[in-house]
Amino acid sequence: MFNRLYIHVPFCVQKCLYCVFISNTPQKNELLDYPVLLIRELQLRTSAASPVASIYFGGGTPSLLQPPQITRLLEGITDHTGIQADAEITLEVNPGTVDGISLKQFRNAGINRISLGIQSFDDCFLKVLGRIHSGYQSRQAFKNAREVGFNNISIDLIHSLPGQSLEQWRTELLHAIELDPEHISIYGLTVEEGTPFARIYPAGSHELPDEDLSADMFELADDLLTGSGFEHYEIANYARPGYRSQHNSSYWMRDGYLGLGVAAHTFLRDGYGVRFSNPDNLKEYRQGLDSGKLVRIDEHQLTLNNAMSEYMFLRLRLSEGVGTQAFEYEFGRSLESVYGSTTTDLVRLGLLIQNGSQLTLTRRGMLLSNQVFSRFL
Ligand code: SF4
Repeated sequence: MFNRLYIHVPFCVQKCLYCVFISNTPQKNELLDYPVLLIRELQLRTSAASPVASIYFGGGTPSLLQPPQITRLLEGITDHTGIQADAEITLEVNPGTVDGISLKQFRNAGINRISLGIQSFDDCFLKVLGRIHSGYQSRQAFKNAREVGFNNISIDLIHSLPGQSLEQWRTELLHAIELDPEHISIYGLTVEEGTPFARIYPAGSHELPDEDLSADMFELADDLLTGSGFEHYEIANYARPGYRSQHNSSYWMRDGYLGLGVAAHTFLRDGYGVRFSNPDNLKEYRQGLDSGKLVRIDEHQLTLNNAMSEYMFLRLRLSEGVGTQAFEYEFGRSLESVYGSTTTDLVRLGLLIQNGSQLTLTRRGMLLSNQVFSRFL
């Protein structure tokens, strides 16, 4: 059914101005009690389960949890499902919430991969984004993580920031390369409705880079990072050989995972797959646990057509793309018979490329990936 766990921690020191994730400033004791709720959910949601292959603490700001809370959580998971000996256990870290001591304690607690939300090294941009940390704090957090023994560190960067030039983006990338992380995730800023950013930068705002500049930024990242030995293994992700995110890769491979916590999403490999999420507020989540009746919000049992469609747009995100034999093995019908005319068209448009039996996105296809994926819906 699942062999991975995602744990959502919906608390942040303050809300960043562009943020659409489910997170709030924790009220009294909320942070303290939260791990108890997570373990209760795990016990209620699962009976017999096999040891998990990866655990991902995401948020929100999971580095607001105290290291002993992580220890207790991992002990609870070990007791209930077990954790494979070589499991990847990632903690998303906001650089403004850690120091050398806490990072060492997180490592001792069992975290073996850190994902640092740096976003930018430039203090002016960090202020525009409403981040709580400086570029100096990000560098320090990275150095501290290395010094205490983390040998698998990912960093996140955002481009297409208000007023950002291509040269400023180049400087960000060079700083990132200089730190020498094992993994880099690159996102283009999107201004989402309902955020303070949407009011400050309404549609058509001249301060936001246009599509051409954003595309140049994407291509510059691709050139500089692959030129520095990183493998561009997924549209937004680069890794040193052997350091792909195992947990996130499993999403694109449609492995089953159980999401624990407020607003966490789950995908179980029952039939063609079932997806659901948890309540997106703490009160409702806690009430469900207290009553012993866990609701499944937006539960959706996938049909064969849904599953084939997901398979295409998730696997195409990866550099390996979609193999025609693997597709046939999974669904008992040929890719040609289901999507033949669509893939022929996308190849003709220069968005997909066919290499033997593998179909992959071209660089232009990556830039226009939403348009490509919509063709498989
Ligand atoms: S730290 Fe992340 S989750 Fe928290 S408010 Fe900022 S962007 Fe949102």
